[in-house]
Amino acid sequence: MSNEPATTGESLPETEEEWRDVLTDEEYEILREQGTEPKFSGELLDEDDDGTFVCAGCGTELFSSDTKFDSKTGWPSFSDVADGANVELRRDTSHGMERTEVVCATCGGHLGHVFDDGPEPTGKRYCINSAALGFDEDS
Ligand code: FE
Repeated sequence: MSNEPATTGESLPETEEEWRDVLTDEEYEILREQGTEPKFSGELLDEDDDGTFVCAGCGTELFSSDTKFDSKTGWPSFSDVADGANVELRRDTSHGMERTEVVCATCGGHLGHVFDDGPEPTGKRYCINSAALGFDEDS
C-alpha cells in the first residue's frame, strides 16, 4: 500500500498527543487541524491504478479509483464516496467561505471538502488532500 494508514481503526488514539505520535507532521496538520496541503504536491494526485483510497489515519475505505477524475485543481478529486456511511459531511464556515467539509466517520480526520461542480452523474467534486489518504492497489 502506498502511504500505509497510521492505525487499523480498531484501537484509535484517544488524545491529540497520541495522534501526534502516529501521524507525520503533515498528516497531523491536515487530519487533526483541518489543514490543506499545497496544490500539486500530493503523492497520490496522479495515482491512476485501480484500487481503493483509504483514510491515512485509520484505513477506512473512502474512495474507489473508479470515481477519481482529473479536476486540474491540484488535489485528488473524486465524483463519489465508496460508502456514504464512511464519511461525515459538516458545514464549514472557516476562512470566510461557506463550504462542506468531508470527515472520516471512523476517526474524525479532516479529509477535504466537497463541491457541486463535479462531473455527471453525481455532479459532486470531492476535493481531498493526498496526505489524508492511503492507496490500496487492487491485486
Ligand atoms: Fe479515518
